[in-house]
Amino acid sequence: MNATKFNANLLEKLYEPLKNCQACPLSKTRTNIVFGTGNPNATLMIVGEGPGRDEDLQGIPFVGKSGQLLTKALEAYGITREEIFIANIVKCRPPNNRAPIWTESQTCMSLLLYNQIKIIRPKIICALGSSALNMLLSDQKNPLKITKVRGQVLKKGDLLIFPTFHPAYILR
Ligand code: URA
Repeated sequence: MNATKFNANLLEKLYEPLKNCQACPLSKTRTNIVFGTGNPNATLMIVGEGPGRDEDLQGIPFVGKSGQLLTKALEAYGITREEIFIANIVKCRPPNNRAPIWTESQTCMSLLLYNQIKIIRPKIICALGSSALNMLLSDQKNPLKITKVRGQVLKKGDLLIFPTFHPAYILR
């Protein structure tokens, strides 16, 4: 079995017991869990904040307006969505697109995102926006400003994190 199939099986096994996850209040208002999509053996992983309305309805990350801009930006670098893995800090849509709170993010990351990262082992994680960046860095007391650190490669343990603006910010 090749690495891609092997990792795809591991991702499926990770997701299976969580398909009806009720671990945090976001489960009460979601339509679909947005697990993440793309190459299970990707070298680049993109992490956003959390699903919006379109993502919640379709169960796929970054398919709304922000997603269309993200897909275009990737294409400009010759990267397709299929060759990378795209996910979010939280897998369920926060009501009215509010930012996920600390406990929701930490609960969801410990169940899903950290395990996705362990399985996929991307060379680098592109964090979209300050919320995704600071949740990945898990330092609630010293949040970094995206305007200051975007474009730099930051290290957190074994992880390399490349922060950049969230496409929603660019659209605004
Ligand atoms: N914004 C995000 O952070 N993630 C999505 O999946 C869509 C919009």
